[in-house]
Amino acid sequence: MHTISNIEIKNKRVLVRVDFNVPLNAQFEVADTTRIRAALPTLKYILNQGGSLVLMSHLGRPKTGPNTKYSLKHIVPCLEALLEHKIQFVEDCISGDAFEITKSLKPGNVILLENLRFYAQEERGDVDFAKQLSRHGDIYINDAFGTAHREHASTAVIARFFNTAHKALGLLMSAEVESISKVLNFAEKPLTAIIGGAKVSDKILIIQQLMNRAQHIIIGGGMAFTFIKAMGGATGASLCEKDRLDTALELINLAKQKGVQLHLPTDACIADAFDQNANTQLVSSFEIPDLWMGLDIGPKSMDAFAKVIQNSKTILWNGPMGVFEMSAFETGTRVIAEAIVKATQAGAYSLIGGGDSVAAINKYQLSSMVSYVSTGGGALLEFIEQGTLPGVDAINFQS
Ligand code: AMP
Repeated sequence: MHTISNIEIKNKRVLVRVDFNVPLNAQFEVADTTRIRAALPTLKYILNQGGSLVLMSHLGRPKTGPNTKYSLKHIVPCLEALLEHKIQFVEDCISGDAFEITKSLKPGNVILLENLRFYAQEERGDVDFAKQLSRHGDIYINDAFGTAHREHASTAVIARFFNTAHKALGLLMSAEVESISKVLNFAEKPLTAIIGGAKVSDKILIIQQLMNRAQHIIIGGGMAFTFIKAMGGATGASLCEKDRLDTALELINLAKQKGVQLHLPTDACIADAFDQNANTQLVSSFEIPDLWMGLDIGPKSMDAFAKVIQNSKTILWNGPMGVFEMSAFETGTRVIAEAIVKATQAGAYSLIGGGDSVAAINKYQLSSMVSYVSTGGGALLEFIEQGTLPGVDAINFQS
């Protein structure tokens, strides 16, 4: 892996692609600082090594050019407070003024360029736009794991304008890649993948890939009911993708062929409405009455899943076991999170990734008790599906 520690930084202008695509509140203040905090080690490292910083990112999905709603100027106060450093904001990422400012930076200067997606060329991966951006730095560092699955101008194409001695992965990217490689390529067995969430259709490729690596795959959440229905169970009004029943059967057969143990919930907490205050009962997940829906796994499934997890040496968790946003249906997700913590304490390596499982582990304040919590949703899932990402390849495999 080609990381920032291989690069000579002193007195250099370092152009860093960060992921500052953060949520803003109604007052345009940063509502969740996770992504900014995640970039700080790389930014501090560069400043400590005597480099200057030119930061570039996207924010939101502006569709028709510049729009102050999506301006990165909104994050300047937050970034200054967290980095404990003065930031100079530049109102257009490729204007003459912008190049004038970044031409003669001094060590310790920090520049933040305006939202890259104010130019449609960014998402198109336009080569000329990438070339223009590349003029802002002597060195290019990609630390934006959250967008590393996109082949955009600033995330992948730009890397061709820097040779190996002048480009690298940042500390966050390196940690993310190392963590997922540990699970996919160097896992101590048994490896257990826990896949939950709403839809099978979003996770088919991932489950297929994991069949080549995991010894156990636990399926929970709404998506389990498509498998249960495919096996002839009655799933009532639970989430079920009727057009994916064949896919579910294929995955069940694939598991048999590969000798992977596929664990489905045997019992469910069902409700007569999608509502925190609905009436509930515990039943077999294969015998859900009409009009009732499974919104969490039941206690037998929790016990069985927790046992598998606690006997694992490597664990990957993506997707909640139920509608954990409602306290009435969060127990399964919480029990699984606690089982992962226990296994980690007993020496297992645990990686939590993909939006809602990260939200869950944070909700239970257990994120510091697992091995690694990924900052990438789509990027992590695509890494599992493809075995690499365009943003990573652009650094590692282009001269
Ligand atoms: P995903 O983005 O596919 O990982 O799905 C996460 C969402 O799935 C969360 O908002 C959960 O509330 C939802 N979810 C999990 N289990 C169920 C279920 N049994 N029925 C309906 N929604 C569910």
